[in-house]
Amino acid sequence: MDPRLRALAEAARGFMPVDEGLALYEAALAAPDGPLLEVGSYCGRSALFIGAAAAERGGVLFAVDHHRGSEENQPGWRWHEPDLVDPHSGLIDTLPHFRRTVFEAGLEDHVVAVVGDSPRLAALWGTSLAFLFIDGGHGAAPAHADYEGWTPHLAPGGILAIHDVFDDPADGGRPPYEIYLRALDSGDFTETGRTGSLRVLGRR
Ligand code: SAH
Ligand code: MG
Repeated sequence: MDPRLRALAEAARGFMPVDEGLALYEAALAAPDGPLLEVGSYCGRSALFIGAAAAERGGVLFAVDHHRGSEENQPGWRWHEPDLVDPHSGLIDTLPHFRRTVFEAGLEDHVVAVVGDSPRLAALWGTSLAFLFIDGGHGAAPAHADYEGWTPHLAPGGILAIHDVFDDPADGGRPPYEIYLRALDSGDFTETGRTGSLRVLGRR
């Protein structure tokens, strides 16, 4: 990975450990031709790792997020960061942070923010994807909706990456693990890599 982008990605705000981010970059780089898409961008940390691959490929990463935070980012939850609340709306707004991150990295030509509710967008989406990264809401309903909404858009031979997959329930919530199992049980995917809680699968 380009050293300047790597340094910016490592310094960016968010929830992606560096070793997992680098694995994400490698997986995106190895994907077949076509656009990349992530669900769950937050302040843009994972988007820099994947966006670095998009730039090297001369391609695009679509970064899908409503930027209002997941359930687990809301006040009173473990992953809440109070300074992300916009005083005007009283709601979380990570979009300005995301834009600044992508701007500072010089990746605006390669990382395209798609701002809205993920299942709503997935239902209207029409472009076949080479790479799909799922890291949106981690509750049962959002995680399964992301799996159901976006995986049909993944081209044969495409790459599916899922974050926060914990084999041991003591390490974290179940829904990302459940959709990982769903992918394997579907018979459409084979696992090609694992780093920390990141799972990388290839579509047959
Ligand atoms: N990948 C990020 C972390 C993502 S956190 C990183 O590297 O740091 C999860 C994100 O999913 C939050 O920003 C939240 O706003 C988004 N999200 C949750 N539910 C969503 C939905 N239904 N539609 C769009 N985005 C959603
Ligand atoms: Mg995550």
